[in-house]
Amino acid sequence: MVTGLQPLHLQIHQEATYARVARARSSSNFFTVIFSPTDYESKSNGIHIHPQNFLFHNQISFAENHRDSGAKAIYTDGSKTDEGTGSSYCIFENYGITALWQGKLDHSNSVFQAEILAIKMAIEAASFLHRPIKIWADSNECADQLAKEVITKGDPFFLPKPLSYLKYEIRPAALSIWQDNWDNGETGRSTHDIVHRVANRPVGWNRDELMFVTGHGPFPSFLHRFNLRTHDNCSCGEKGNSIHYATKCRFTLSWNFQTPTVSHKLQWLKNILTNNLSRTQLRLLMRFICDENILIVQDNN
Ligand SMILES: [Zn+2]
Repeated sequence: MVTGLQPLHLQIHQEATYARVARARSSSNFFTVIFSPTDYESKSNGIHIHPQNFLFHNQISFAENHRDSGAKAIYTDGSKTDEGTGSSYCIFENYGITALWQGKLDHSNSVFQAEILAIKMAIEAASFLHRPIKIWADSNECADQLAKEVITKGDPFFLPKPLSYLKYEIRPAALSIWQDNWDNGETGRSTHDIVHRVANRPVGWNRDELMFVTGHGPFPSFLHRFNLRTHDNCSCGEKGNSIHYATKCRFTLSWNFQTPTVSHKLQWLKNILTNNLSRTQLRLLMRFICDENILIVQDNN
């Protein structure tokens, strides 16, 4: 949890869901959320035209700064804003628009999908003309305006979501399961008191701070819990947990913090972890505990 690494079983479940939907093209549920393959684009299988029949040099040009000659031509464009995604083409002839098409895509659709869709629609329109025509992609102010305009007003055009969006959708689902496990789990409760929300990034505690907050360190109470010792006493006679060494123990007097009241303990911990002087003091305390064996009464067994 403090490392910002999602639990392995969730990670695996997440990957498996993606693989089932994206590659095996079968419906899959991630806990309660169902993902259907028909909502997502599928990768096309290979080339449908034999390369020899595709006259690359004659049919595709990367020329820019096209000037309208008045001849019939199609211009395409795709656009994506915070409000959504739009796709369009317009047919020009004699310096004026003679036909146009606009498709309002979902906000989940990418600008690349919008650009490709516009080109595909333009090719379909061009095929009805039964004569060569130039299609200009992403190079016309008018097509750009049409693509932007359709985002806010226009008829929805269904296009499956890109696969990258599937990952984007599984992630929050996994995060909410992780959060649920964290809130209702039994381990790490002292850490839960301070860090309520799970996240895919480290909490930012160093090794000493981790030992202090989690209580997982060379403390008698921790060793006793795992049957590595028969009792949990400090050499001074009191219960040897991390709070004891940080506040009361006379062996660690030089690095003692003021003892917090029960109701202020959480704030006290947070203050220590956010103050650089306190963090230094805590580090020295933990180093001392790790180095000095006198704190731990030797067991006979
Ligand atoms: Zn002590």
